[in-house]
Amino acid sequence: ALTIGIVGLPNVGKSTLFNALTRAQVLAANYPFATIEPNVGVVPLPDPRLAQLAKIFGSERILPATVSFVDIAGIVRGASEGEGLGNKFLANIREAEAICQVTRVFSDPDVIHVEGKVSPKDDIETINTELILADLQTLEKAIPRLEKEVRGKKAPQELLDTAIGAQKLLEAGTTLAQGAAGARLDPDRVAELQLMTSKPFIYVFNTDDAGLADTAMQDELRALVAPADAMFLDAKFEAELVELEPDEAAEMLAESGQGEPGLDQLARVGFHTLGLQTYLTAGPKETRAWTIHRGWTAPQAAGVIHTDFQRGFIKAEVIGFDDLLETGSIVAARAAGKARIEGKDYVMADGDVVEFRFNV
Ligand code: GDP
Repeated sequence: ALTIGIVGLPNVGKSTLFNALTRAQVLAANYPFATIEPNVGVVPLPDPRLAQLAKIFGSERILPATVSFVDIAGIVRGASEGEGLGNKFLANIREAEAICQVTRVFSDPDVIHVEGKVSPKDDIETINTELILADLQTLEKAIPRLEKEVRGKKAPQELLDTAIGAQKLLEAGTTLAQGAAGARLDPDRVAELQLMTSKPFIYVFNTDDAGLADTAMQDELRALVAPADAMFLDAKFEAELVELEPDEAAEMLAESGQGEPGLDQLARVGFHTLGLQTYLTAGPKETRAWTIHRGWTAPQAAGVIHTDFQRGFIKAEVIGFDDLLETGSIVAARAAGKARIEGKDYVMADGDVVEFRFNV
């Protein structure tokens, strides 16, 4: 599953943010979630195109794409020493495709900071150091094992070389996300090593009203973590927002001067960091967004609906969302020559409205 792991020091607002994420999930009652797990928050990706499509097709329901966040409690300074980060923590974070680091920017004398002062830069360093140390521990065990496997011809030499290269970077205090490309480590080999710092990072800066308006401070923090994605929200405000009725929430949002809820932004940033996009299907029953990786072909996209669709793929009828909106119906879009028949090599574009033809 495409999940994003939430990490951060204690008292930075992780639970507050996570509660908002979970509440948003409960509110989205008509989504087909297989199971609701206590440590997973699933939020819809906001997409105004869906309501427009549903109107054209008279769809009974709308199913947006979703992004899952998993709460990975457990990092403090020194967490990687002693008993280590804990197996559950390691398993959770390994499964996540990206890591969302929540960092405290808000100041509140009533909320103790574990390090004694609010300093996003120091906090980021603390967390990154722990993740680097945990990766080094992983490699300390993996390298001797790989050496043996390479001797026995059970693992390729390149994998061992990559592990040693990764170890050098980490020892120099660089995360693999920052340094692997520069050190010319093969990204596929790096991925095989399952290291935490090789995952893409999202930085969520938990701030207050003043911080949300302070663009100079935001620019500084963005620069600090670039090229990773950064975003700013007020976790406490987000948690309050999801408790309100939609019209009340809209009013409170307008009063705050924010254009959209932070959770909406977070979902979008998550999609961006994971390299995802959506394509759309629509009919009288439902209008739906399907999640795919950028660059996927039509058969791969079809496989997200059903593996049979991919296996038996013949062709796809594709209409760009804007063309459909402009012409007003599939029939009109076809008449206007806006409906394209695409084959198996077609690379999907974001917002393609698609109907697949396939053999079963
Ligand atoms: P966690 O330890 O990272 O999970 O942090 P919590 O979410 O439990 O938050 C710790 C404390 O900080 C709680 O009392 C929250 O109400 C408070 N808190 C969280 N976010 C904010 C915020 O944006 N502003 C302020 N002033 N307090 C916050």
